[in-house]
Amino acid sequence: MRYLSTRGTMAPTSFSDILLDGLAPDGGLVVPAEIPTVSPDERESWRGLTYPELAARIIGLYATDIPTDDLEEMTRNAYSPLRFSAPEVVPVTPIDEQMSLVGLSEGPTMAFKDLAMQFLGQAIPYVLTRTGRVLNILGATSGDTGSAAEQAFGGADTINVFMLSPHGRMSDVQRAQMYSLTDPNIHNLAIDGVFDDCQDLVKAITGDAQFKADYSIGAVNSINFGRICAQIVYYFWAWLRATDDVEDRERSGSAVSVAVPSGNFGNIYAGHLARRMGLPIRRLILAANENNVLDEFFTTGIYEPRTREQTLATSSPSMDISKASNLERFIWEFVGPTEFPDRWAALVRSGRLDLSDQLPRLRDEFGFVSGTSTHQDRLASIRTVHAESGMVIDPHTADAVTVASRVSEPGVVTLVLETAKAEKFRRTVVEALGVEAPAQSERIAALLALPQRVVELPDDAESVREQIRTGALQRRNTTGFTD
Ligand SMILES: *Cc1c(COP(=O)(O)O)cnc(C)c1O
Repeated sequence: MRYLSTRGTMAPTSFSDILLDGLAPDGGLVVPAEIPTVSPDERESWRGLTYPELAARIIGLYATDIPTDDLEEMTRNAYSPLRFSAPEVVPVTPIDEQMSLVGLSEGPTMAFKDLAMQFLGQAIPYVLTRTGRVLNILGATSGDTGSAAEQAFGGADTINVFMLSPHGRMSDVQRAQMYSLTDPNIHNLAIDGVFDDCQDLVKAITGDAQFKADYSIGAVNSINFGRICAQIVYYFWAWLRATDDVEDRERSGSAVSVAVPSGNFGNIYAGHLARRMGLPIRRLILAANENNVLDEFFTTGIYEPRTREQTLATSSPSMDISKASNLERFIWEFVGPTEFPDRWAALVRSGRLDLSDQLPRLRDEFGFVSGTSTHQDRLASIRTVHAESGMVIDPHTADAVTVASRVSEPGVVTLVLETAKAEKFRRTVVEALGVEAPAQSERIAALLALPQRVVELPDDAESVREQIRTGALQRRNTTGFTD
């Protein structure tokens, strides 16, 4: 498998190479040169595989430069019972006749980011060891990505993590999951600003090619294709589990829809790739919160990113995004590589991309439908699911339930992706359920009681660079020692 850049000027490269960096060198996003397909027979032959076995098969279609045995060892370690609390790794549980919950939050940080990040936690050290390199990972987080990355890379001896987070703007649990870590290779930097300021600092520092090369800076943000690839796995897994029962398979004609709480368009883009690979997904249901640029795009064909001032702080905070980085990959495919440069240049120039003349294709050819869920919708969905099934869902998952209920079709089962555990966003759950909300678990209470350490910094790139200069792992010299 070869990889290209959406901007079209990158030399074709391998999976191992693209793992270490988010962006292509020309500033575009990395995309596979062709999408591998999986025949119905092959798919059926995967029904008996465990999650780690299935992951090695699917990731192996993209990571063609990594030997199968090595990949199998990586996925066994990444998705081991030591890291995921459910024995099946991703449990699929019916909510009612029409909807099932896909449990993507059984990992160490109780959010779906663990599924991709735990794979990178194996794959990146593997590549570094083979090439004798070290990596300083620089990232920005609004909460879930940072904790998942720190859990995945904590203690790795070829990797240091510098994670920027907005000071005082994360939930108690998110903060504790990051700041209580004691691994010496984890550097938490709390920035006096909002998430977008943190992201701008990362862009400023990684845009400095010399600094980036001198300090071997890498990225594991949601545009990293290694993450996208690991996310394809659970679409196949959930589809196979939803159709395990022959009667279910006959009743639904194997047509299953998937509802995805979306922000940066990374998760649902993986679903789109699964569908292109041949998985019979009927609809990809995109759920947005009040920050609904993506819903606007899929209902009108017009994409108009908003500014940070126009981005609201909502009760599903991990979806408070008004400029969806991964959408570039989809648009590249949708308009085609030839037309893409002009279309993209127009978007950058005018802040608006108009594909409304091709609107029917979004639904008919690509299967996308979308909707917006508000705070009140979220509360109502948490209450409804609890009343019907006794399950307690988190506010992001509730957004997907809201939109899935609105667009549900008779006879079609919808798989709702659970992107976080309710415990991680307890305040909204208590608001929805009142006295019926579950008490805080011992696990969370113990986490919140741990001592925390963090370096507070102004919103200033030079201060961050200084932290990297003093804390960075240095490239090894030719004798194999660290200098
Ligand atoms: C990251 C995140 C999302 C959004 O996922 P994207 O891949 O950015 O679309 C939704 N819910 C939760 C809980 C998340 O952490």
